[in-house]
Amino acid sequence: MTRYYIAVTYDVCEHNNLYEDMNEYPLDLSIDIDKQVREFAKTDVAPLIKVYESDTSDFKELRLYKEYKFKEYECGCNR
Ligand SMILES: [Zn+2]
Repeated sequence: MTRYYIAVTYDVCEHNNLYEDMNEYPLDLSIDIDKQVREFAKTDVAPLIKVYESDTSDFKELRLYKEYKFKEYECGCNR
């Protein structure tokens, strides 16, 4: 069965109760997922990325596949 994957970048700031999805990126499964996700995080300066999988290409039903956190892109409010 074919599965489809998208990565969603999130902007998160606990201090301002911000938890906002930014962009969706389709994943190319022929390339290492971790590598792609790292690139998306860099592009969007996203501290959190969630990868969702779906059995259909329209992504009507999503399941959380994996979550990535990037400390280097966390907000600087508490610094
Ligand atoms: Zn903050």
